[in-house]
Amino acid sequence: MNREYFKQIKFNNSGIGCLLSILLGGLFLTAIGLGWIVNGLLILFGFLLFAPAVAWLVINWWLKRNLVEDKCPVCNYEFTGFNNTQCRCPNCGEQLQVVSGGFQRLTPPGTIDIEAVEIQSQRLEGE
Ligand SMILES: [Zn+2]
Repeated sequence: MNREYFKQIKFNNSGIGCLLSILLGGLFLTAIGLGWIVNGLLILFGFLLFAPAVAWLVINWWLKRNLVEDKCPVCNYEFTGFNNTQCRCPNCGEQLQVVSGGFQRLTPPGTIDIEAVEIQSQRLEGE
């Protein structure tokens, strides 16, 4: 009977010790984990605050470098286009290419078709 009682105390002691160690370890881990979470949140917050400013600066710089303001070679309408791209004049609809800070007129392959139509109509009239 005495032995059983001793056994019970020993079991209880080890149980408490085990529980305490788990509790302490858990507290320690959560402290570290929370620290990391707080750090992560701070970094994330800083990034969220910082990223749009950087993105805005980069976009502004890129736009300044790539936006070209020039007059349409066909109708002299002034508008902006992106460098090294093709665009259409918003005024006359002419296809233009932005080359080295200026608009250049694209000559579409179908431009000479008008003359061919005229020849065809002349042929039809002759027959
Ligand atoms: Zn135009």
